[in-house]
Amino acid sequence: MRFDIVTIFPEFFGSPPDQGILGHGVVSRALRTGLASAHTHDLRAFTHDRHRTVDDRPFGGGEGMVLKAQPIFECLESLNLTPKPTRDTTRETVILLSAQGKRFTQATARRLATLDRVVLICGRYEGVDERVSQLLCDEELSIGDYVLSGGELGAAVILDAVVRLLPGVLGHADSSKFESFGEGDRPEDTMTAAGVPRSTHGSGGLLDYPHYTRPAEFLGVPIPEPLGNGDHLAIRRWRHQAALAKTLANRPDLLAAADISDEDREFLATLGYQPPA
Ligand code: SAM
Repeated sequence: MRFDIVTIFPEFFGSPPDQGILGHGVVSRALRTGLASAHTHDLRAFTHDRHRTVDDRPFGGGEGMVLKAQPIFECLESLNLTPKPTRDTTRETVILLSAQGKRFTQATARRLATLDRVVLICGRYEGVDERVSQLLCDEELSIGDYVLSGGELGAAVILDAVVRLLPGVLGHADSSKFESFGEGDRPEDTMTAAGVPRSTHGSGGLLDYPHYTRPAEFLGVPIPEPLGNGDHLAIRRWRHQAALAKTLANRPDLLAAADISDEDREFLATLGYQPPA
């Protein structure tokens, strides 16, 4: 899978696969093994004036500067991207990073991971001339309800979230399936052959449960008792309830759509949960 990142700060990404944010961990491994490739494109290389100007004042007045459409068009032309109406979006997509975009989620990451190519256009200043979105982009994505000073962090977030879903990138094929926002949602997916529950959102729309490793006691805090006694049923029960409790504490909004049983509801009620009317 190929990523093209259009930016005025290519150095932000370093030189993959050795340096910078693309040069570490899972992403670096994917780039080294050829499961993915990432190419940064300096927008200033597509300007034609002495000052390599990429921005201009906004029509209608107001604060700040706006990224011009022309360098972005020429950059995409140089990447041999077919024009928007003829682009096969089941194979490639051009994304504008924008605070006004649709929210990027794990489901979006899963969809993007099925494509051959993802192009990420990083905005700056007050944003990007709207004709880039109108004429060039298949989608506008926001990584959250806050405003960043540039699209580069968003591009890095999307790239990381997508790359780790590519087949062969994670050590264990199921790792990305059984975690918060994973897609493992069949009851049989939630259990290993030994009957131990996986790290899973597969219990039906819940956040992952808390994890512990050695030592069994740290700074006076012991691991939860069921995790140490080898009783798989007790472990399973504890993990499921801990996932419920974690979801209630941090993302109660997920509970409304979660696949929870009457027993779960009773447990949540003991923690003060009241289902929406
Ligand atoms: N004037 C814009 C607004 O109010 O929506 C904010 C522009 S922001 C300062 C500059 C650039 O940062 C944007 O063009 C976009 O590429 C990027 N950006 C800011 N927030 C973002 C977010 N939540 N998700 C993705 N990209 C974001």
